[in-house]
Amino acid sequence: MATGKIGVTSENIFPVIKKFLYSEQEIFLRELVSNAVDATTKVKALARKGELKEDLGDLTVRVKVDKEAKTITVSDRGIGMTEEEVDKYINQIAFSSAGDFLEKYKDSIDAIIGHFGLGFYSAFMVSEQVEIITKSWKEGSKAVRWSCDGSPEYTMEENDKSDRGTDIILHIDEESSKEYLEDSKIEELLKKYCMFLPIPISNGKEKEWKDDKYVDNDKDKIINDTEPLWTKKPADVKEEDYKTFYKKLYPSTFEEPLFNIHLNVDYPFNLTGILYFPKIRTNLEIQKNKIQLYCNQVFVTDSVEGIVPEFLTLLHGVLDSPDIPLNVSRSYLQSDSNVKKISTHITKKVADRLAEIFKNNREDFEKKWDDLKLFIQYGMLTNEKFYDSAKNFFLYKNTDDKFFTFDEYKNIVKDNQTDKNNTIIFLYATNKEDQYSFIEAAKSKGYDVLLLDSAFEAHFINQQEQKNTEVRFMRVDSDTLDKLIRKEDAPKSAYTDDEKKDFTSIFDSQTPKNTNKNFTVEFDSLGADSLPIMITQSEFMRRMKDMGKLGGAESSFYNNLPDNLNLVVNETHPMIISLINDVKDKTASDVTANDNELKPLKSDLESLEKLTKDKKDEEISSEEKAKKEELQKKISDVEAKRKTIFSNYAAGNKLVKQMIDLALLANNMLKGEDLTKFVKRSVELLGK
Ligand code: ADP
Repeated sequence: MATGKIGVTSENIFPVIKKFLYSEQEIFLRELVSNAVDATTKVKALARKGELKEDLGDLTVRVKVDKEAKTITVSDRGIGMTEEEVDKYINQIAFSSAGDFLEKYKDSIDAIIGHFGLGFYSAFMVSEQVEIITKSWKEGSKAVRWSCDGSPEYTMEENDKSDRGTDIILHIDEESSKEYLEDSKIEELLKKYCMFLPIPISNGKEKEWKDDKYVDNDKDKIINDTEPLWTKKPADVKEEDYKTFYKKLYPSTFEEPLFNIHLNVDYPFNLTGILYFPKIRTNLEIQKNKIQLYCNQVFVTDSVEGIVPEFLTLLHGVLDSPDIPLNVSRSYLQSDSNVKKISTHITKKVADRLAEIFKNNREDFEKKWDDLKLFIQYGMLTNEKFYDSAKNFFLYKNTDDKFFTFDEYKNIVKDNQTDKNNTIIFLYATNKEDQYSFIEAAKSKGYDVLLLDSAFEAHFINQQEQKNTEVRFMRVDSDTLDKLIRKEDAPKSAYTDDEKKDFTSIFDSQTPKNTNKNFTVEFDSLGADSLPIMITQSEFMRRMKDMGKLGGAESSFYNNLPDNLNLVVNETHPMIISLINDVKDKTASDVTANDNELKPLKSDLESLEKLTKDKKDEEISSEEKAKKEELQKKISDVEAKRKTIFSNYAAGNKLVKQMIDLALLANNMLKGEDLTKFVKRSVELLGK
């Protein structure tokens, strides 16, 4: 028997292994099974070249748990190792044999398992002792048994193993790793990491029901699919196969994907895979199905952040590439040139696929649009390259469920919806029901209204306006129709500014108080066909609030602001005209009295101000200052009284409140007690 020290010291290798102990202990099984598959792939290559004299035989890699003996054995019938090779590859782990092998057979081997870095030594993460019993494929070689308890000392001796291949026997450390002695745990890990390895992997035997209990029969329980769909040529795969494979990847998902992309690149990097477009309607976060990353059919991870642009992580499916460096940090990944190329390639393929469906089968594309839109918008907002392709197939849907590209839509609305500044106005609604009356009003004027109702809309609209400066978006309820698309200068009001100030008090006094809504009264000529009073909300403020809802730095700031609404009084509506006439009539004497009080005060203040206009502050006498202050106070008192004249009028005329409530009702803002009061008042008014 030979004993010796492993060619690395405990100072350098074991701390590395221990570091993984707590984080990714379970990967030991992936490493050992990968090595076994690797050795088997190599022996197949030798047979193909005619170098192997004996039969290949059954190549199944067997994983077996022996709970009593507390061992896990991974057996393969691969190339095995001679004593020198064990010494070279296991004892002196500073270098790996894969390089030697590749060098020698590089043109005939298409699937050599890549490097995972930690490799064989990860076995010590779960074992108190590890044995290797191996016999090389080379004629005349003797089997060896190597054993090591995790310290750098090992033993090596001859063994009577008669067939080619390697058994790795792990004596599980019960204290830290007992769970791995459960068959179910091993099954779970094999399914996670080894599901698509290219050599059959068995986990014990199939069970059968015999004499009132389950017993093993002699059939291997194979856990993997050795030829997963992505390894096949796209031309050989049927649409049905993609769907079946999707179910295999995500057994608990019932929804079918919208479509898929089969990736197959061998230059300048290696990449295969199948990506699926899932239906995404609302919840971006609740995406439990993730893209799985494989390296030569060995599962590596399902967190592909850093490898593909973020919006693509919404897709499902598999990616397989030996060219993605695996044991490096995420930030390093992003700067790796191969990863950059792969990421750019995938982005382009995804855009190409969508463009292809759009071009070849627009009807189908439109049908699936609602499920695709969020994904595409997210991509356009976060990835410039994707934006450049997607802008050609991004679809706008209008409130009549018709679809248009940006250019198509622009052409359609251009003639009718260009304002006096030559800006094309895209009118939109975010909710067909809530904004119904506004949509109808716009349509009756021959305008078209888009439906923009996704979570990203506010951000998206901003982006669209930045990229297409000839266009502006206005929500249908953000202003009165004439002002949404202003074609000529505003008509002159019939009232003077002073009159408007007086009449404002009538309506202002009756707006809802103690809500998080602020109303600003405005006067406008909307014609007899419009409502007497309308409520609009400025596009800018509302959009800011909408953007805030998605989160981000300014979000809480905007969310805390009250809604600023405009109460637009339609001064050309007959009801308003007759109301104002009545106001003038009923308030005439009070207003005259108020005028008489106000006028002298104002003219006194005016002359005082004229007197002190050119003086510096210190030149104005304290007497003058006190006088000015007194006048200002008196004026504001009289003005307050004046307001009361009008608010008193409004309180005594139910029609004012009724017209405001009608406007609120049209905007879905009349609720609770206010609604009940409105109904009661309506009955009263109707009874008259
Ligand atoms: P890597 O697989 O990255 O080369 P490992 O530490 O896992 O590193 O393995 C080191 C070497 O030991 C392998 O390259 C291979 O030559 C040899 N080896 C490991 N397991 C086996 C096995 N089951 N059959 C034959 N050779 C093996």
